[in-house]
Amino acid sequence: MIRSEDGFFGQFGGRYVPEILLPALIELEELFADLRDDDGFWREYLLLAQQFSGRPTPLTPCPGLTRQLGGARIWLKREDLNHSGAHKVNNVLGQGLLVQRMGKRRVIAETGAGQHGLATAIMAARLGLDCTIYMGADDIERQYSNVFWMRQLGAEVVPVSTGARTLKEAMDEALRDWAASSDDTHYVLGTACGPAPFPELVTYFQSVIGLELKDQCQEEFGRYPDEIVACVGGGSNAMGVFAPFLDLPEVRLTGVEAGGTGPRPGAHSVRLSAYGDQQDAAETGIAQGFKTLFLQSRDGQLGATHSVAAGLDYVGVSPIVAHLTETLRLTPAYATDQEVLKAFQLLMRTEGIIPALESSHALAGGFKRAAELDKSQHLVINLSGRGDKDIFKIARAFPQPEWREFLDRELARQSNEKEGSTDVA
Ligand SMILES: *Cc1c(COP(=O)(O)O)cnc(C)c1O
Repeated sequence: MIRSEDGFFGQFGGRYVPEILLPALIELEELFADLRDDDGFWREYLLLAQQFSGRPTPLTPCPGLTRQLGGARIWLKREDLNHSGAHKVNNVLGQGLLVQRMGKRRVIAETGAGQHGLATAIMAARLGLDCTIYMGADDIERQYSNVFWMRQLGAEVVPVSTGARTLKEAMDEALRDWAASSDDTHYVLGTACGPAPFPELVTYFQSVIGLELKDQCQEEFGRYPDEIVACVGGGSNAMGVFAPFLDLPEVRLTGVEAGGTGPRPGAHSVRLSAYGDQQDAAETGIAQGFKTLFLQSRDGQLGATHSVAAGLDYVGVSPIVAHLTETLRLTPAYATDQEVLKAFQLLMRTEGIIPALESSHALAGGFKRAAELDKSQHLVINLSGRGDKDIFKIARAFPQPEWREFLDRELARQSNEKEGSTDVA
């Protein structure tokens, strides 16, 4: 498994934060150092994950896909079957247990698309913690159904209306809160990024994915897979499934980024691969409390990003992923929005599984690789989440004639109901 050297992975990582946040990060680091090798703590975490989130998630063979693509045997690690529909809850539940150990009673988080905020609100409700979620005002409008559920779960959702009104501003606001409240408040970081010890800590909890997978592969085909493919936004599901295999060089690890609509600046989120003759290639920089590869313009400003999958639309990447790519342990790849939609449709039609658009990047990359491998080989794709949340984007990509009518009818029905009011108070 992966261990940092004083918070660094090669040249990446570190802890570049205002002095006022250092005590809280050091407290967290010391607690994590005490607990990471404590079997009792890991068992407590596994029990919570099992009883609350349905772990272990299955390893599903895909005979139909394997036949169609004609190469390696394809398996899916089913993180979509977690409670709340994605791997994010693994990390959040683990951090919830740390909060209890620290005796704090409040958690805060920032969220872009809302998935991490929702997972955090679920954890807080379950563990009896107060919860505040910071979210850009524009993101709130775009992702209102997540906001709705967070509030139903008892979380306070704070709209952030400064700047571009999206994730970055929400992050600044959450850090401002934490600087003033860290005595009784924990900041739940959602991916394997940010200042130390977060990249390592998030990877530790997410590694439950890869640890289960190791046993399941032995059981199903008596050895380790030839290749594992995961999508890379911040890098947490990828590191979770990769970490237990890092010392096994015969297992190829492929991370798939968002190729968006092409290599133009602002049209993608490719930080690890060379992509066309892109003008805004990722370079090492320090932002958001850590050093990693960030997409930057030539004058060093953080670049704009795009992906059809909101969870992959991120300007930086885990320092662990950056380091593993630099040392050639991880092979980067990318898939464009178009390729992703095709892979999405193929999985649905062939195996009856509705994947998240993020996970469909891993599918697109994995399908390409599987076709290049031999029939005797095994390829595992980490299916990080389910696609229910993406219904509106999918409906736009694959329109059905009745869809507009359905929406109009639904709106009319709702306004009728308001007049007759069937609301529960
Ligand atoms: C958030 C999210 C991702 C991207 O985050 P990582 O930290 O890179 O794993 C991928 N898939 C799904 C389903 C997500 O919700």
